[in-house]
This record gives sequence, C-alpha cells and structure tokens, in this order.
Amino acid sequence: MSNRAFNFCAGPAALPEAVLQRAQAEMLDWRGNGLSVMEMSHRSDEYVAIAEKAEQDLRDLLSVPAGYKVLFLQGGASQQFAQIPLNLLPAGATADYIETGIWSKKAIDEARRYGTVNVAASGKASDFKAIPKQGEWNLSPGAAYVHYASNETIGGLEFQWVPETDAPLVVDMSSDILSRPLDVSKFGMIYAGAQKNIGPSGLVVVIIRDDLLGKAHPLCPTMLNYAVAAENGSMYNTPASYSWYLSGLVFEWLKEQGGVVAMEQRNRAKKDRLYGFIDASSFYTNPIAVADRSWMNVPFRLADERLDKAFLAGADERRLLNLKGHRSVGGMRASIYNALGMEAIEALVTYMAEFEKEHG
Ligand code: PMP
Repeated sequence: MSNRAFNFCAGPAALPEAVLQRAQAEMLDWRGNGLSVMEMSHRSDEYVAIAEKAEQDLRDLLSVPAGYKVLFLQGGASQQFAQIPLNLLPAGATADYIETGIWSKKAIDEARRYGTVNVAASGKASDFKAIPKQGEWNLSPGAAYVHYASNETIGGLEFQWVPETDAPLVVDMSSDILSRPLDVSKFGMIYAGAQKNIGPSGLVVVIIRDDLLGKAHPLCPTMLNYAVAAENGSMYNTPASYSWYLSGLVFEWLKEQGGVVAMEQRNRAKKDRLYGFIDASSFYTNPIAVADRSWMNVPFRLADERLDKAFLAGADERRLLNLKGHRSVGGMRASIYNALGMEAIEALVTYMAEFEKEHG
C-alpha cells in the first residue's frame, strides 16, 4: 500500500504516482544501459532520443501546428518575464500587458526594465476578483505583443476564453497548461514553468512561433536568446536533463490517460465538485467571479480565520497537505492539477464537511 499523501501544493506540485514509480524503476540502470538518465551525456544518442520523444509527445498532446518551436529551457517561468521583452520588444516599440494578479504584475514590472509597457487592462478595480472583459481593454496600435497570464495561481482566477488581438499573444500558462485542450495557433508564444502540470521545477517549456525568433535585443544574453535555443535543440548548454526526462514520463502518462480531452473531463468534474461544495456551504467561501474561477487553484476562506490553524492541523493529520493559502492572501488554497484525481477532492470535501460540522 502506498503511503502517499494527497498533496494540494501549488508548485512544486503532486506528480502522478505511476510516473514516480517508473522513474524509480529506471533510476539506477536506464533500460540496460548501466547508468541513470541523470548521469548520461546530453549529447548521447540515448539522451537525445529521450529528449526528442518528450518534445514529440508534448507536440502530440497539444496538437502543436507546424511553424512552432518547442523549447525546454531553464530558470523557471520567472526568467521568462525578462526573456520575453529581451527577445520580442524592439527599441521604440510598445508591449501590451493585462494585469490580473500577482504573476502578471511581476511580468509587467520586469518588462518595464527593458522597454515601453502599456497596461492595457487591470483587474485592480475589482481587487483582482474578476478578469476585465476584452471590450474594456485599451490595446496599443502596433504593439509588439500582448501578454497575459491565463491562470493566476495565487488569486485563483483563470481566463475561460482566448483574447482576440492583432499583435501576437504571449501567455503565461504555468499553472493551466495541459489541463484541457488548447488551440496553439492562436498564440505567438506560450510558456509554462514545469512544476505544476509538467514535471520538476527549474524547467520551463516555451512554444514559440517561428516568425518571432531572431529579433532579440543586441544585449540579450546568448543563454536567453530563443533563436539560439531553437538552433541548438534547447542544448546550447547542458539542459536540465533529468527534469526534461521526467517531464517526458509525465507526457507519456498523459497520453495513456487519454490526453488533454480526458484531463478536461476529469478537471471539470473535480472543480465542479469542490466549488459546488464551497458554494453550498455557509462556512466556506471563494471570492472569485464565478465566470473567472480557476479550474486548477481553488482559494477558499473559513467563516472565522481564527479557525485556520485548526483546519490546517486537522488536514495534515488526514494527510491532506499544503492547503495553506499563499502568504500574500491568507486563507486556504487547494491546487488540483492533473496528477490529483477525484479521490483527492472527495477526501478534501469529506474533511471540510466534518470540520464545518464541528466548528460551524
Ligand atoms: N507564473 C505563474 C502563473 C506561476 O504560478 C508561477 C509560479 N508559481 C510563476 C510564473 C513563476 O514560476 P517559477 O517559480 O518557475 O519562476
């Protein structure tokens, strides 16, 4: 019997148990080669095959059309906040940004260091409880790109639609990539830190349209130039080879599960169950506009915050881990990425109902 807890962490997040078991089985001796993937030369035929298969599986899962590069880079999603303007924002041009919470704000602050940023819309007026409708956006004519975060991991709000813009769309999809089908052709660039729905932290996946390559600022560090990464198959230097391999195992697992179509069904059922329970209770609340609620990160508050400690202690006892909300917002947050099944949601809801009965 597995001793694994239900891990509701926002990231690094739960990984599928089957993936961890496979990594364990292959740890010391990868397929009779006598060494671990961690110890392989990234230039070896074996490793290049592992890396290429991972890329192909991700392309298959997201139906990435021709004309896009898929890159496996380092530095997490935060490094992209600088890397994007360094590559895509020429001198004198303007980039539009949509502010919907803490992560999109970080992207804005970093981009401002490299060029002109227009915050075309902000959810500030609603205290980031709702996403501004596209009709209210103040986009710049001729913008180099429009940046937004499709899912604000801390706030728990998510675009349920893709913006329509003339300029290339650049999206931070760190916490909702692979959670459901996606039309990649609508985007100039998609990026995602790995540690939620992809694999171990440190790695960041970038999907970028070919015509956006080769426009980097002259002072853009070589290591941060997308064109250099693309020309070198994401191996200009030593890549995060083990994280890339493990992400490949996650992609294989996703395919076995039925891909993003199956994930959408599972994730819809999961979030409906959890939000449904919260909405039916007078003890727990979720503050986000219903149409903009995240499928992946569900923040909630107890009727009396003096009970937060007891709630978390009881959750830990039941092996429901990492339910504490982000330090900037308090309360609770359940992150329910692909690797968590309905049984995790049922265990959480059962506990929440018991706690309410005792303290409500
Ligand atoms: N964007 C979003 C939406 C995130 O959730 C996170 C991390 N939680 C980041 C960016 C930053 O990712 P990293 O820690 O990999 O730099």
